[in-house]
Amino acid sequence: MDLQPITLDSIAPHRPLVIAGPCSAENEDQMLETARQLKQCGIKIMRAGIWKPRTKPGGFEGVGTAGIPWMRKVKEETGLYTATEVATPAHVHEAIKGGIDVLWIGARTMVNPFAVQELAEALRETTMPVLVKNPVNPDLELWIGGIERLYRCGIKKLAAIHRGFSTYEKTAYRNEPFWQVPIELRRRIPNLPIFCDPSHISGNRELIAPLCQQAMDLGFDGLMIEAHCCPEKAFSDVSQQVAPEQLNTILSNLIIRDKFDTTAELSEWRRQIDQIDEQLIDLLSKRMKISSDIGRYKKKTGMPILQPARYTEILSNRARLSETLDLNSQFIQEILKSVHEESVRRQMVIMEESD
Ligand code: PEP
Ligand code: MN
Repeated sequence: MDLQPITLDSIAPHRPLVIAGPCSAENEDQMLETARQLKQCGIKIMRAGIWKPRTKPGGFEGVGTAGIPWMRKVKEETGLYTATEVATPAHVHEAIKGGIDVLWIGARTMVNPFAVQELAEALRETTMPVLVKNPVNPDLELWIGGIERLYRCGIKKLAAIHRGFSTYEKTAYRNEPFWQVPIELRRRIPNLPIFCDPSHISGNRELIAPLCQQAMDLGFDGLMIEAHCCPEKAFSDVSQQVAPEQLNTILSNLIIRDKFDTTAELSEWRRQIDQIDEQLIDLLSKRMKISSDIGRYKKKTGMPILQPARYTEILSNRARLSETLDLNSQFIQEILKSVHEESVRRQMVIMEESD
């Protein structure tokens, strides 16, 4: 993709680029007070939701267009750039008319290609930076598809926001990070900046600092963090918003590891890893050859492919072995499950071959 950087004048080029601000714009005082405090922390872009996608009706659904003059005032009084969520073409038009500087598309909107296409059309050829959150479900293709829809409408200042994925089981996180998804996004579109939104991943202000550090260690470019001048009185997402002062502490404690040069030590370890990977592949090939021999034997002697007792035995005895070697047994089981799947696939091909 021929993307353009999301640089806004006077924004420092080094990572992380931080966008911070309340979950929702509530009133002018809250917006201005939060903006003043954020400015003191060195923040350059303030976020605030005006149109809020809520799970159930009847709650606080955002102040709507009434919030736009507050955003403008924030900009006039503090010089902060402003960002808000858009979910419909009408939101896009209102936001552009109201002088908002950055837009983002929320996780709920991202699950609907029709909605994303309509937003892309409404934004056609604008120079507006657009940040694209992941869809609520861990579907990388849908996320990339949404980004492509915007790109094809000429929107070049694009970035992704990783805000975690909804799961049925309740875990420590409000939305599971499943880091492998943004990591794969980076591999697929290397020049797309990626932000992490630790607020919506965690749902809990105590987990924001470690998530920010993890995001930095994984090479994320920016952070979007919910901050409110009075978090405990927030109209939405009370437990995940931080006070600007706490945000300041979180950001000052971040360690940014940006050294990419290789050293002799690192090269030697990498050489060893390369060698071990070659051995692993060689061993897997030997193992698969034996599986194929077994497949031919089963076919000749009229035995079925699947022997559940044997499979269970492999999994449990390898799990025990891995524990003695200080390996995570779940990880070893995942590998063996996939090795077993490939063995079964090979044996199925053998069964189908004509003799
Ligand atoms: C938000 O950022 O306020 C928001 C609603 O986030 P998400 O779309 O990630 O749930
Ligand atoms: Mn929120």
